[in-house]
Amino acid sequence: MIEDRIQSFREILGQERVLSYLKAAWKAGRLAHAYLFLGPEGVGKASVARALAAALNCTQPLPEDDACGKCPSCRRMAAGTHPDFLVISPEESKAQIKIEYIREFRRLTAYPPLGGGWRVALIKPAEALTAQNDAAANALLKTLEEPPEWNLIILAATVEGDLLPTVVSRCQKLPFSPLPGPLVARELERRRNLTPPQAALLAALSGGSLGRALALDPEALLDQRRQVLADLEQMGQGSITAVLDWALRLAKSRADLDYFLVLAQLWYRDLLLSHFKAPSRLLAHQDFREALEEQATAGAPRTWFARCAALAAAHRHLQANLNPELTLDILGLRLQQGKLPL
Ligand SMILES: [Zn+2]
Repeated sequence: MIEDRIQSFREILGQERVLSYLKAAWKAGRLAHAYLFLGPEGVGKASVARALAAALNCTQPLPEDDACGKCPSCRRMAAGTHPDFLVISPEESKAQIKIEYIREFRRLTAYPPLGGGWRVALIKPAEALTAQNDAAANALLKTLEEPPEWNLIILAATVEGDLLPTVVSRCQKLPFSPLPGPLVARELERRRNLTPPQAALLAALSGGSLGRALALDPEALLDQRRQVLADLEQMGQGSITAVLDWALRLAKSRADLDYFLVLAQLWYRDLLLSHFKAPSRLLAHQDFREALEEQATAGAPRTWFARCAALAAAHRHLQANLNPELTLDILGLRLQQGKLPL
């Protein structure tokens, strides 16, 4: 797990507003007894929970209000053996958090934290409290209604709509934002030894989630991109058979199809950026900068806007489970039609 390595606020990427809010509440002695961290996966929710637990229990916190990383408590956090930091998650391959885990936590809260500081329980994903039934959520509700002293509950969830409203209303909500692309790219270069253009492409596909970016395989992605660009070029030749063959092939593989939709959209977005003379560091396909600039001077922005719209429409239709082959036939024809002078 990537977030397991992070034990302090200073290591967190982005999320400045959340961090300054939590630090201020901590210093003022006004921490809520339960927080709901809301935001996409892989943007640092669990890392912030861990860093907060480390800071609250650190015996020699740094002047900038952060864990020292050296005291016995910080060392136990780093080793994953701190008795007062609990992660409550579903068992592997299960969707639901067992009610026993919540009951066990509830029993613990009858006693003060072992280290004499704060007991922090991270529940992730909080959606797993209600995945099959509400039993675990209802058990937790009792603790939320009578918050025990020196216990802090952090629920990490993607959307609050999947949680019980009674649970949500007893937590203080903290929204986490997607991470800026350049920040994700820089981190990928550092951790994965990627070239700047490779990192930019992965970052563009990650939607601001470092977790998602780190899970992508750069080699497989570059292969996908080669195929997508070859497909776009072939369709541009104007043969109807090429379009129908392409639709038939892509309808068979949802993964290839998803890659096509997002990589092609990024391609037309890059053409528009090049046309409007945006700095090349903003491009997703940076290694194709020259080709993009060449095409950008020859083509018309209206065509690329239309193609982006066609790709977005296809994406919506596929999400609504409309016939993929039919959706792709139409998408192929629309992408090809854009070739004609508008
Ligand atoms: Zn410390």
